[in-house]
Amino acid sequence: MCFSLDNGARMGEIDGFAFPNESLDEPREVEMKLYEYQAMELFARSGIPTPFSRVASSPEEARQLTAEVGKKVVIKAQVHMGGRGKAGGVKLAETPDEAEKAAEAILGMQIKGLTVHKVLVAEAIDIKNEIYLSVTIDRVSKRPIVMASAAGGVEIEQIAAETPEKIIKYIVDPIAGLRSFEARKVTAQLFENQKAVGKAANLLVNLYHLFINGDCSLVEINPLVLDADGNVIAADGKVDIDDNALYRQPELLKYREAIDEDPNEVRARELGLNYVSLDGDIGCIVNGAGLAMATVDWIQLFGGSPANFLDLGGSSSVAKMVRALDIILGNPKVKTVLVNILAGITRCDDIANGILEARKQIQSDKPIVLRLAGTNEEAAQALLEGTDIQITPSMREGVQTAVEIAKSK
Ligand code: GDP
Ligand code: MN
Repeated sequence: MCFSLDNGARMGEIDGFAFPNESLDEPREVEMKLYEYQAMELFARSGIPTPFSRVASSPEEARQLTAEVGKKVVIKAQVHMGGRGKAGGVKLAETPDEAEKAAEAILGMQIKGLTVHKVLVAEAIDIKNEIYLSVTIDRVSKRPIVMASAAGGVEIEQIAAETPEKIIKYIVDPIAGLRSFEARKVTAQLFENQKAVGKAANLLVNLYHLFINGDCSLVEINPLVLDADGNVIAADGKVDIDDNALYRQPELLKYREAIDEDPNEVRARELGLNYVSLDGDIGCIVNGAGLAMATVDWIQLFGGSPANFLDLGGSSSVAKMVRALDIILGNPKVKTVLVNILAGITRCDDIANGILEARKQIQSDKPIVLRLAGTNEEAAQALLEGTDIQITPSMREGVQTAVEIAKSK
């Protein structure tokens, strides 16, 4: 999860600042989150030192991999969530047998509601120091920002909340990029040993390049560790990539296949719909992102809870409407659907035909509340005459009706 710090920047593992309706209070940034093992692969390709590691889907596989490593390993749950260490999702194992047991305990485990399907088997590091290091975008200066702390590790959330002065922030000039001497200014505050300062500075420059070249919204290493031999190594990795840039990141797009996303979001994306799953029970179909945001806000305002954000986009087609309803009615949480259309290029009769067609094709008795205004409104009215779907006179009444229906069910 990501959220705003008071300076507008975000941190991955530091989630003390999350506010509950984040996705409703501001447009949600859509990003593709990589698993640690994927982040590690990218780090290695970017010249960032990482421990040798492989991913395993079964205890047996974890045992075999550990035997191949021939050293002490760390077994780590692969989920899109920080705090795995505290949740028991990170275990050290001295032998292949121990590794098998650790993987058995971690696979299938739930971490903050996410089931663990894979574990990372990584060569264990003899850790001397744990550092926090990340690059993200600072919303205030609208520039990349490096954040770092000598007090890295699993307590970083608490550090950020209680002693924010221990978090170093360095805003980068995006034209000049992060130059070596600037990286060194940051890392000099993290390590006492000058060799470590230099190694960490190189690593930070590489991390910055990955952030820029990969169109990332966050790259984070926590902990970045100094080991007993004086090596500076990334012992954990978090990489979020801006979805809007994926068209020019074919190399990164391949990581998506391995990510278990919300199946409705995947289907919607394949159908060319702009869809985000939310937790509530009122399904929404709206045209235009602004109206879709307003609809989600109004549902909350009137005491309801939206099941999703869905922007049909500018043009309308009967087929698109049927697909959208198919996704939304298929969500077991949905009690009623609110269709809110302000038709310009979109035609009301297309929307009405889409709803009628969906009613024929999709088995569902969930009520549909319809607010429809604009181009070909009368034609739509005529099409819906005599059906159980009526056009509510205003957005306010549409929203209120949907909230009442959802509450009564
Ligand atoms: P997170 O809790 O989800 O952020 O998972 P991390 O990968 O950051 O691991 C949590 C903690 O486990 C780290 O802060 C370390 O203290 C510890 N840890 C992780 N990897 C190793 C390792 O290779 N060796 C040792 N000794 N500890 C490790
Ligand atoms: Mn971590």
